[in-house]
Amino acid sequence: MELKRGIPVSPGVAIATALVVETEGVRIQRRTVDKSLVATEIDHLRIALTKASADARENQNAISAKLGKQYGAIFAAHALLIDDPELVREIEQMIAQKNYSAEYAVSLVMRRHAKALESMNQPIFSTRSSDILDIEKSILKHLVGEQGDPLQNLQEPVVILAHDLTPSQTANLNPKMVYAFATEAGGKASHTAIMAGVLEIPAVVGLGRFLTQVSGGDEVIVDGNRGIVIVNPDPETRERYLVLQKQSVSFARRLDELRDLPAATKDGTRTLLMGNIEFPQEGPHCTDRGADGVGLYRTEFLYLNKTSEPDENEQYEAYLAVLRAMGPGKPVVIRTMDLGADKLFQVGDNHPHEKNPSLGVRSIRLCLRNLAMFKTQLRAILRASPFGDVRIMFPMVSTLMELRQCKMILADVKEELEEEGYAYNRKLPVGTMIEVPSAALMAEEMAKEVNFFSIGTNDLIQYTLAADRTNENVASLYNAGDPAVVRLIDRVIQAAFKHSIEVCVCGEMSGDPIYTMLLLGLGLRQLSMTPQNIPEIKKIIRSITIEEAKQVAQEAKRFETARDVNNYLREQTRRILPEVVVN
Ligand code: PEP
Ligand code: MG
Repeated sequence: MELKRGIPVSPGVAIATALVVETEGVRIQRRTVDKSLVATEIDHLRIALTKASADARENQNAISAKLGKQYGAIFAAHALLIDDPELVREIEQMIAQKNYSAEYAVSLVMRRHAKALESMNQPIFSTRSSDILDIEKSILKHLVGEQGDPLQNLQEPVVILAHDLTPSQTANLNPKMVYAFATEAGGKASHTAIMAGVLEIPAVVGLGRFLTQVSGGDEVIVDGNRGIVIVNPDPETRERYLVLQKQSVSFARRLDELRDLPAATKDGTRTLLMGNIEFPQEGPHCTDRGADGVGLYRTEFLYLNKTSEPDENEQYEAYLAVLRAMGPGKPVVIRTMDLGADKLFQVGDNHPHEKNPSLGVRSIRLCLRNLAMFKTQLRAILRASPFGDVRIMFPMVSTLMELRQCKMILADVKEELEEEGYAYNRKLPVGTMIEVPSAALMAEEMAKEVNFFSIGTNDLIQYTLAADRTNENVASLYNAGDPAVVRLIDRVIQAAFKHSIEVCVCGEMSGDPIYTMLLLGLGLRQLSMTPQNIPEIKKIIRSITIEEAKQVAQEAKRFETARDVNNYLREQTRRILPEVVVN
C-alpha cells in the first residue's frame, strides 16, 4: 500500500481501478479477452514486438547518424530489451494465464519493471525506468494504434491518474465512469480543480511525482476531502474508507433536507447562496441544490474545445437555456468570456504566444482587442436580457479605464440593437469582478461606475501573493486566509457599502466552509459557489447568529499570518459543524 498527500480540490471518496494517463496520452486500461482469443492476442503481441523492435533499430541508425553512436546505443538497448525472450515470456504468460488483452499485459509487465527500478532510488536506475516506459509506449503504439483521447469511451469505472489534465479534458470527463481523479501537478483554484467540483468528481491535485509507482488496474482510493491517494490499500484501510464513504453519503442526505429552506442565520439575516456554472446544462445543478440564482456563469467554456467561434445565436440560446432552468426572478450573472491563461482558446489565431499568460492578454484584455468577438457576446447577452433577471459582469478588470471602455462598448451595442429593433433590458445591471489587487485598491472609484461587485478570490489570491493558482509548488503561499487577502476583501466590501452597491464573493473561497463565518462577518450577504457546496454552507449559516459571525471576523482580522487565520477559522467552524472540517 502506498499513500500520497496532495491538495484536496473536490470532495468525496472513491475506490476504483486506476487508469494511468501519461502526458503523452497512453491509455492503459484493464481488458480481458475470451479464452478462445488468447492465441490471436499472443499473435498480436508478437507482431507488435517485432515492429517496435524494428522501430528501435531505425531510431538507433537515425540517432547514430545525427548525434553519434553513443546516443544511438540507447535505442539499440531498447531493441535488445524488446527482443528479450524472458520479457516476452512474462507478457505472454499474463495473456495466457489471466486472459488479459495484449496491451494490458504489456503495460502491466513494463510498469512493474519500471517501478522496481524506480524504487532503487538511484538516478541511474530511474533513468532506466523512463526508458522502460518509453519502450512500453512504442509497443502499445503498434497494439492499439496512435492514441485518440484516452479519456473518452471508458468501458468500466476508473480513477484517473495523470500528470495533469487540461480544463477542457476535465470538462469532458464522464462522471458515471470516472469516479475520481488525481494529478501530479495543479493547484487549488486551477480551472481543472474547479471543473472537478462542477462535475462532482472527487479530486486531489499537486501530488508530486507518483505515476511511475502505479500500474493501470491497481486499486486506488482517492480521498477528495483530505487530499489523500492510496494505491493498493490494505484490507483494513479499504474497509475504513468504505465506512467513510457511507458516512459522507448520509451526511449529504441530511443536508438535502435544507434544500428549500432559506440561507438565514438564527437571528433571521438572509444570505443569497448562488451557483457558479460553466455550461448551460448546469442550471439544474443549481436548482437541485436550492440555489438562489447563478452568481457566476463562466461563458468562456462555450469557446473551449471548439474549432470555430460560437456565433451570436448559439450564445443567445445558451443564455436562454440557463434562464429557463433557473425560472423567473432568479438572478443570472453572465460573465463575459474570460479566456486565456489556463483556459486556452483554440479558435482563430488571435491569441498571442506569451511568456506569462496569467499576466498577459487574457480575459477582458483579450476582448478589448477583439471587438467583433466581444460585441457578438454582448449582443447575445442583451438579447437574452428580457427573459429573466440577467446581469452582466466583466472579468479581470484592472483599471478604471478598462471598465469605462467596456461600458462604452456595451452602450454602442445597445444602440445597434435598438436600430435593428431588438428588445433588451434597458436597466440591465452591470458589474465588475474584483480579482486584481489594483481593482481592489481602486474599489471606491470602481463602485461609482457599476451596480455590483463580485470578488473573484481565485485570481485575487494569485495576484496578491504572486503565487500561480495552478502551480503545486507554490500551493502553500496560495492561501485565502492570508491577512493580505482578507484585508483586500474587507476593503472592497466597505467600498461597496459606501456606494450602496451589491457585493458578492464568487471564488472557491465562498464554497469552503471554514471561511463562511469570516465572509458573513465582514458583511457579505451574497456568495456564489460550485452548486455542490451550497448545502454545507447553508447549514453553517443556519447554525450561527450574525453577531457570532461578526465576532469571528473581528478576531480573524487580528492575526498576522495565514496559518493563524486558518487555524482559528477551522476551530470556530469545527465548533459549529465538525463534519465539514477535515483536517
Ligand atoms: C475568480 O478568479 O475567483 C473567479 C471566480 O474567476 P475564475 O475562477 O473563472 O478565474
Ligand atoms: Mg478569475
